[in-house]
Formats: sequence, C-alpha cells, structure tokens
Amino acid sequence: MRQPLIMGNWKMNTSREEGVQLAKALAEGLGSVAQEVAVCVPFVYLSDVKNALAGSPIAVGAQNVADQASGAYTGEVSATMLADCGIKYALVGHSERRSYYGDTNQSVANRFCQALKQNVIPVLCVGETLDEREQNRTFQVVDEQLDAVIDAAGIEAFGKAVIAYEPVWAIGTGKTATDEQAQEVHQYIRQRIAERSAAVAEKVQILYGGSVKPDNAKGLFAMPDIDGGLVGGASLDAKGFLQICHSV
Ligand code: PGA
Repeated sequence: MRQPLIMGNWKMNTSREEGVQLAKALAEGLGSVAQEVAVCVPFVYLSDVKNALAGSPIAVGAQNVADQASGAYTGEVSATMLADCGIKYALVGHSERRSYYGDTNQSVANRFCQALKQNVIPVLCVGETLDEREQNRTFQVVDEQLDAVIDAAGIEAFGKAVIAYEPVWAIGTGKTATDEQAQEVHQYIRQRIAERSAAVAEKVQILYGGSVKPDNAKGLFAMPDIDGGLVGGASLDAKGFLQICHSV
C-alpha cells in the first residue's frame, strides 16, 4: 500500500520567525504518525525551517526548482543547491508558476528532470482551469501536462516522484472538488501511468490540492486513488494543518 503524504505549501507567506515558530509547532504537535508530512517553504527560509524541524519526521520541500543545472541564470535556485541543503522535495509546475511566471509543460519537464538527477523528489502539479473543465477538457489538459514529463523523464521516473492533482478553480477559492470529482481525475491519472507501467502506477503517490481544509480532508483522503494532500492556505495554521495530517 502507498504511504499517505500530507504536504503544506506556504507559498509567499510568513516572516522568518513565523515560519520557524510554525515549523516548531508542527514538530511538537504531530506525535507519531504513519503518514509522511512535509512543508514547502520559501527558498530563503529553507535552512531555518529545516533546522527547526531537526529530529522531527517532517520533511522540507522547495516551491520550485530551476530548469537548468547551474550557471548564468540570475535569480534561480538549482536542484544541486536544494540537495546541498538537505531538501527532500521540490514542487514543479504549480499552477501559480504556470499562470503568473510562464512555466510551460517543457520547462516543467526540465525542472522535474533536474530535481530527480539530484535526488530531490519532484512533486509534479497538474490540473485544469475552470474554462477547461467546462469545455470537458480536463483529461486532455492533464494528459498534456503529464505526457510532457513522461516523454522527458521516462515512466520509471514516476517511481521516484509525486503527482499533485490541483484543479486551478479550487486553489485558494474555497471551492473544493467533491470527493468524487477528485477521485475521478486521480483514477484517470493512475490509469494513464498504468498504461505504461502497472508497477509505477501502483506505487506513485497522487495528492489532491485545492482548498483542502480540516473539515473536508477526511472525505478526500478516504478515496482509493487519493494518497494525501497538497495544502496551501490551511497549512499556515498549525492546529488546522495538524488536523489535516491526522485525517488520513
Ligand atoms: P489552497 O492551495 O489549499 O490554498 O487552495 C493549494 C495549493 O496551491 O497548493
């Protein structure tokens, strides 16, 4: 069976001190759990948060990673640098990166490959906009986002990666997908992976993201193809996030 994974995405929030305090509160409150827990924090706080979580099972992730290995790429942070700081995960292709910062399927595929090469686990975010859903293009969009990465990295790479299905219309809007809507897409994604490798499909964790809250997490996480959550807004509150962590 797949181990559940609950991942916080702090986005561009918290001061350094607030981040450290939040991490400490999570470490103290988590207790012993079977699921994996991680927080994706702003680059400049990665090391502080990692130190605050020393001795705790909570892992640290970055919210992005460069699509190049090293060199003259001002402002970028490479997978090598993340690995050097002991960072376990990197989000790639979050919808906010795709829509505000021009990340394309191709650059997302490159980021994914760079992370893997350095043993940083890429968390590939996919998902459709409201328009795309209303035009019945959800599966097509998700296919395109997945295929670009499968073509670049190969299907076996997904044995060492995580997928997050995040319908764009549910992110930060308070409009969660219903358990069934989310499960339908998760099942579809796993099926697409299974067409290439049944073993990888069985293994890969597929997280749901988009307005996950303490009061809807249990229902979502109970669905057979939902292996946990990528939690934005609700991960900034220690009590709420811990409740979500305990909803698996
Ligand atoms: P949200 O964000 O939980 O605030 O909707 C999820 C995400 O963007 O990862």
